[in-house]
Amino acid sequence: MPKPALINLDKNRYFSANPDERKTARHLYNLVKDLPLVCPHGHVDPKLFATNAPFPDPTELLIIPDHYLFRMLYSQGIPLESLGVPRVDGGEVERDRRKIWQTVANNFYLFRGTPTGSWLKQELAEVFGVTKRLNGETAMEIYDELQKVLQRPENRPRAMFERFNIEVLSTTDAPTDSLEFHQQIKDSGWSGKVIPAFRPDNVTDFMYKGWKQNIEKLADVSGIDTSTYKGFIQAMENRRAFFKQMGATSTDQGVTTPFTIELSEDQAAMLYARAIRGEATSDDARFFTGHMIMEMARMSIEDGMTMQIHPGVIRNHNSVIFEKFGLDKGCDIPSMTDYVNNIKPLLNKFGNDPRLNLIMFTIDETTYSRELAPLAGHYPAMKVGPAWWFHDSREGMIRYRRMMTETAGFYNGVGFIDDTRAFPSIPARHDVARRIDARYLAELVCEHVLDLDEAEDVIVDLAYNLAKQNYKL
Ligand SMILES: [Zn+2]
Repeated sequence: MPKPALINLDKNRYFSANPDERKTARHLYNLVKDLPLVCPHGHVDPKLFATNAPFPDPTELLIIPDHYLFRMLYSQGIPLESLGVPRVDGGEVERDRRKIWQTVANNFYLFRGTPTGSWLKQELAEVFGVTKRLNGETAMEIYDELQKVLQRPENRPRAMFERFNIEVLSTTDAPTDSLEFHQQIKDSGWSGKVIPAFRPDNVTDFMYKGWKQNIEKLADVSGIDTSTYKGFIQAMENRRAFFKQMGATSTDQGVTTPFTIELSEDQAAMLYARAIRGEATSDDARFFTGHMIMEMARMSIEDGMTMQIHPGVIRNHNSVIFEKFGLDKGCDIPSMTDYVNNIKPLLNKFGNDPRLNLIMFTIDETTYSRELAPLAGHYPAMKVGPAWWFHDSREGMIRYRRMMTETAGFYNGVGFIDDTRAFPSIPARHDVARRIDARYLAELVCEHVLDLDEAEDVIVDLAYNLAKQNYKL
């Protein structure tokens, strides 16, 4: 039998093949490769660090939280049931963790050339010490090896957090969340810094599933009557203050478009009352969300929290999968997004105020050079978030630097964020970003756009300082 192939992580991976650039990239990368990881935006479950329980098995750790995996496998005809994705109706799905792992391993070749493939490869090798490539033949051997490794004390969530050299990790939490796990982490005396971020979509969007119940829950957790618009705003301010007291430094809003509009208090109250009566239309929801983005900016100026907006994703594009499996199953698709016109009311009202720190993201890449870099290169309050979601990849990050830098510079960006729910993939994601930045800067140095000492400063800012500054960490 031929020997199984080994995982190859070349030390020069993602650098240019041009020898001068490669050498410079290596030098720049070496300056940042061991810097602490600043993770100001992500979706890791805080419960992991509150309970610090060992990860139960490799499938639960590496497959279940990763919708990047599901989407690719599904696109190649592999049913989500066979990957153990729970069905809304409670119908039969695969429960055997080994079988699920085997299915993913049999099809791991599908991830060649994708970021998921390279992150997972690096994770297996560097975090868990796996040496053989994952495929149908090695699947069970690697599963057993991981199962053993996961029981070791150094692979408990808190020990991993320390081993990864994470300086701070932000989770994402709804205003209705009690933050009990964050409280447990604080009470435990553990020194790891895990902070919440305020994401109010479940109460600011009338069309959000269970909006009415969420509003009631908001009243419960804040102790403020939310049956009127006035009460709702007070409850939001109350929760922001609570989040801030629990360590939050930022907010985030996921919206279909960055549409903003300034409504009078009476107009907003009228829309809110309609929603409470269950009579809101989708236009009402759009106007109210647009108004709430403005309100969130106003509140950010008052309480100093950094504001993030993530527009442009058409969620649950595949209604068959949505009906059967619910949210976040890999069927969210990027859509064309107009920033310039939609965000104008907000920037005109607050964009010149240096107290506001507004970070805008896009997954419509065409907007980087046409819209976002020119906006961020002008308005003092605005920054552009890093290449996000479909684009936090080798090519995506190179394109991001090429489209952004000449108009907005490096300093109207915010460095790197990993935005992941897959906790053990965090070091690999930061490593890829640091390598790509080294590659891009090396090109500028070798073409004499920048001097080496300038690039040496920039790479440290991109890898570390900018995220800290912009998220006030
Ligand atoms: Zn996110």
